[in-house]
Amino acid sequence: MGVLPDVHVRCLVVGGGPAGMMTGYLLARAGVDVVVLEKHADFNRDFRGDTIHPSTLELLHELGLLEEFLRLPHQELREIRGIFNGHAVPIADFSRLPTRCKFIAFMPQWDFLDFLSSQAKRFPTFALHMQHEVIDLLFESDRIAGVRVKTPDGQREVRADLTIGADGRHSITHTKSNLEMDEFGVPIDVLWMRLSKRENDPPQSLGFFRHGKLLVLLDRGDYFQVGFVIPKGELDAIKQRGLPALHRDIIRLGPFLEDRITELDDWTKIKLLTVQINRLRKWYREGLLCIGDSAHAMSPAGGVGINLALQDAVATANLLAAKLRAGPVSVADLKQVQERREWPTRVIQTMQAFIHRRVVTGRESKSGDSLPILLKFFQWFPALRSLPARFIGLSPRPEHIHSPSKLTKRCS
Ligand SMILES: Cc1cc2nc3c(=O)[nH]c(=O)nc-3n(C[C@H](O)[C@H](O)[C@H](O)COP(=O)(O)OP(=O)(O)OC[C@H]3O[C@@H](n4cnc5c(N)ncnc54)[C@H](O)[C@@H]3O)c2cc1C
Repeated sequence: MGVLPDVHVRCLVVGGGPAGMMTGYLLARAGVDVVVLEKHADFNRDFRGDTIHPSTLELLHELGLLEEFLRLPHQELREIRGIFNGHAVPIADFSRLPTRCKFIAFMPQWDFLDFLSSQAKRFPTFALHMQHEVIDLLFESDRIAGVRVKTPDGQREVRADLTIGADGRHSITHTKSNLEMDEFGVPIDVLWMRLSKRENDPPQSLGFFRHGKLLVLLDRGDYFQVGFVIPKGELDAIKQRGLPALHRDIIRLGPFLEDRITELDDWTKIKLLTVQINRLRKWYREGLLCIGDSAHAMSPAGGVGINLALQDAVATANLLAAKLRAGPVSVADLKQVQERREWPTRVIQTMQAFIHRRVVTGRESKSGDSLPILLKFFQWFPALRSLPARFIGLSPRPEHIHSPSKLTKRCS
């Protein structure tokens, strides 16, 4: 396999997920020479969540992209309700948020990423390379000087003043750079599968909770993407009990699925997604900054990981774009990004750990069919629903666009 000629860029982003694409877009918008490398050939991977939060929609508004974005097919969720032990409980009401859009937009994430990449490609300093898998980091003494990439045409080296690791939970950038990671145990994993949708199905909700178990259905037009929470490491035991037993478990949470549950007639149709919560102690070292799940893997609890990854990207551009346009950035500059984003990350991860300890454990609890008192409060006092709405819809410390715009676009 031949090695292609080296290239050198100001900023290299590893990973074309929400964090990477937003960073690439914002840096290119500021006139920074930026290359995004994504290992897959397209964005069509179904394991991602589909949530675009009010704070993200606000960012799109600040960027002048909101109207165009909302022309893409999507659904608007103005209130989140969960079905808890058979009772429908409204949990979050977005109507009072101080944002332009008072809803979560549900859109397959590939549409969102396609949208961001098509917008970014209008800037002359932006480049996105699909099917470019980073397989190693390049070191110059103690500094990360770029990456080694596997491409369809062979391996190549891409050197950069700054490498941004936005390569998600199984990040090669943080592993190869030996950044220390704290793992916070999570008791659950998720089975991920598809079931068809029918005309009279209930509307989109947060999910179906029952005695520590959870079933999530993402409405993707003609089918549901189904997430079923199981205790961590128990897939083999579930397989031994057999498919009919799994069908029964799912139907107990979502009885209306009974007429189509046999669509899951083979284990190949059921994927295991492992859930982690972890956080790097230091998100950077000379020449490298990790953001999004690469710096802090999020569980699906609350559906806030995508939003947090995007907020990291905005903070990164706010703090670094102008400096990167002028030249390389220092370790002190990179430290500022962690200082800005670590607090909201800690708050959300603490909330997620609480949910896994107390609400979604994956194991059947002995509680009866009554509603926990906390949930009754949401029924009795509607104003309380603004709190989860702020937490989920905006997240702690929402970011706003302060990075510069050079506004030189290629003709589209
Ligand atoms: C089962 C499950 C369901 C979830 N559901 C939701 C939800 O509904 N809402 C929500 O907000 N959050 C959800 N999350 C969390 C959310 O998926 C993450 O927090 C979010 O995707 C993080 O974005 P990111 O850009 O940091 O990383 P990712 O989305 O993981 O993107 C990383 C990108 O890097 C690419 N990549 C990886 N390695 C390399 C490499 N070596 N070279 C080049 N490219 C590479 C990957 O292909 C990927 O495109 C869920 C998580 C799980 C596990």
